[in-house]
Amino acid sequence: LLQTSGLNKHFGGLHVTNDVNFDLQPGEIHCLIGPNGAGKSTLFRLILGEHLPSSGTIHYDGTDITTAKPFQRIRKGISVKFQVPGIFKALKVRQNLEIALQHHLEGHSLGEEIDRLLEFLNLTDAADQLAGNLSHGQKQWLEIGMAISLKPKLLLLDEPTAGMTPDETFATGEMVQRLNADGVTVLAVEHDMAFVRQIAQRVTVLHFGRIFAQGTIDDIVADERVAAIYLGEGHHD
Ligand code: ATP
Ligand code: MG
Repeated sequence: LLQTSGLNKHFGGLHVTNDVNFDLQPGEIHCLIGPNGAGKSTLFRLILGEHLPSSGTIHYDGTDITTAKPFQRIRKGISVKFQVPGIFKALKVRQNLEIALQHHLEGHSLGEEIDRLLEFLNLTDAADQLAGNLSHGQKQWLEIGMAISLKPKLLLLDEPTAGMTPDETFATGEMVQRLNADGVTVLAVEHDMAFVRQIAQRVTVLHFGRIFAQGTIDDIVADERVAAIYLGEGHHD
């Protein structure tokens, strides 16, 4: 579904993405892991078009999107939940979802779709709370809801479980699996290895902007080279 070829991104002298050849299969759930500063969020921004690569190409669904504008990529079905939630805190949960959905639906079907989405997100009881008053985990779910209201083919999730309890993390994994069963391809940046084990069909390890290892979670956990890059890290989560 998505291929990057020889992808490089420099910020001044800082080489953040380094010759990345990454291939995402249609229908898979793929987790991207790696130490802080490895370049995971930058790769997401390149895929979304928020940054343009210094060199290399990105193909999506059969077309070259290397220089496409973000709105064009979103229109082709790429959607992102970023690391920092971008919800409207002074509006109710329901109103946030209305904003996200209103380009796609109107009138009667809008209310039904919001109710369906609220239930999917475990947010039915919180529908009339201000988004700013939600728990950290609920805010993440609302963010996921805003991203999936675009009905993406490819959903990028940047640390979807950050700040969640183990129960919330598990429920998030079930959400991702249900989306995937409905045909959504998922690429998730994640630090929580239990979550990676729960959802990932394949895992890619990024280190200093390079693809360092790739395989199943069992392959990755058994790889001593991968364990070594995490030693001595002031690692969060
Ligand atoms: P984390 O796990 O902490 O979220 P990450 O793997 O997502 O890390 P990135 O956010 O992609 O890492 O950052 C990779 C490196 O690129 C870091 O050294 C960061 O400081 C640098 N960087 C990211 N964006 C920019 C930018 N716009 N300008 C300059 N440097 C940047
Ligand atoms: Mg990041």
